[in-house]
Amino acid sequence: MTHEKDSMFDQMTSRGHERLCFHQDPETGLRAIVAIHSTKLGNALGGTRRWYYESEDDAVYDVLRLSKGMTYKAAISGLPMGGAKSVIMMPHRNHPRTEVEARAMGRFVDTFNGAYIAAEDVGVDIEFIDWMAGETKHVMGGETVSRGGDPSPWTALGVFHAMRACLIHSGQCEDFFGKTVAIQGVGHVGQNLCRLLNEAGANLLVADINKKNLDLAVDMYGATAMHDDDILKAECDILAPCALGGVIDGKMVEHLRCPILCGAANNILDDPEEDAVALKTAGIVYGTDFVVNAGGLIHLAGMHLGMTDDELVRKNDEIFATTQQILEHTVHASSSYAAAVEIAEQRIADGQGLGVHAG
Ligand code: NAD
Repeated sequence: MTHEKDSMFDQMTSRGHERLCFHQDPETGLRAIVAIHSTKLGNALGGTRRWYYESEDDAVYDVLRLSKGMTYKAAISGLPMGGAKSVIMMPHRNHPRTEVEARAMGRFVDTFNGAYIAAEDVGVDIEFIDWMAGETKHVMGGETVSRGGDPSPWTALGVFHAMRACLIHSGQCEDFFGKTVAIQGVGHVGQNLCRLLNEAGANLLVADINKKNLDLAVDMYGATAMHDDDILKAECDILAPCALGGVIDGKMVEHLRCPILCGAANNILDDPEEDAVALKTAGIVYGTDFVVNAGGLIHLAGMHLGMTDDELVRKNDEIFATTQQILEHTVHASSSYAAAVEIAEQRIADGQGLGVHAG
């Protein structure tokens, strides 16, 4: 879908962005965008998404939305970090990823002198990160040149904690035994979530447009495969979108057959202000995306900030209490999203001028 929007400056102004930077590398053909939403609380760590966009407008729309979400994610997680994100615009869907492209992206990231720190997102893996790290020290999530590794097991663990909080808030026990969880997208995060839920005794319904990933979830975790058109409407105890964003809008809310919506995808709601109200009206408990999927950021940003292994685990555990706190606030707010934004914005306002610049 093509997003025709206001001018770029108007889009930046309305979302409160500091910087929107474009780069094209003549040698490799790389076309990339870095959006820095906020550095009020510190330097900004956010993933690099490598994706085929139908238009430049779509890429700008994606990077602006994602980077703003990172500001909220860091603030709600109590990290002294800002919010940013980058996208690489693939020239066509199956364009192969190469070391020269990754290095060109690394050089672009390096121009921000650490105000922007890159990491994995959809389409970017550990190897790509280490290639980028050949050109800049401002990247996390690699295994050889940079450090931190794949953040998705930590993201999945955080979502699992948030699901427990959602179950308790909806008056159920937090035991997953016999509960049915429907997962859209069983990639990096989705597979790890399947593992945790399977160990906890949940029944799994899964869908993925990638047959290899779908088969893996079925074979490894005894999940039942569903068609990707049906998964969002599946009857279940928890619906967990773990693919791409924008999958739930006001219309889709009417078709949901789950008391809880809690997944890893960024920007699950097409229009979070409106759709989160529709969810509350429909009596569906919504674990706000930027709260519940913060585990990966907490892990990489925490390492970057020098936290110990114990501190990293404790910080991930906090996702349970933070989700509970927001759901309690939701009783007085228009939606759980509004409650989460209110708390995040208050933290950013309180922390102004105290930013830690990790260099
Ligand atoms: P991934 O690319 O490894 O997995 C995504 C999976 O979704 C793939 O298997 C893909 O085939 C599938 N998919 C795409 N469109 C689909 C559709 N319409 N129906 C069904 N399946 C579909 O990505 P990931 O790292 O697992 O991240 C998943 C989501 O979580 C993304 O939105 C990402 O931004 C978000 N997220 C990831 C992390 C992390 O640590 N990786 C952290 C925070 C948020």
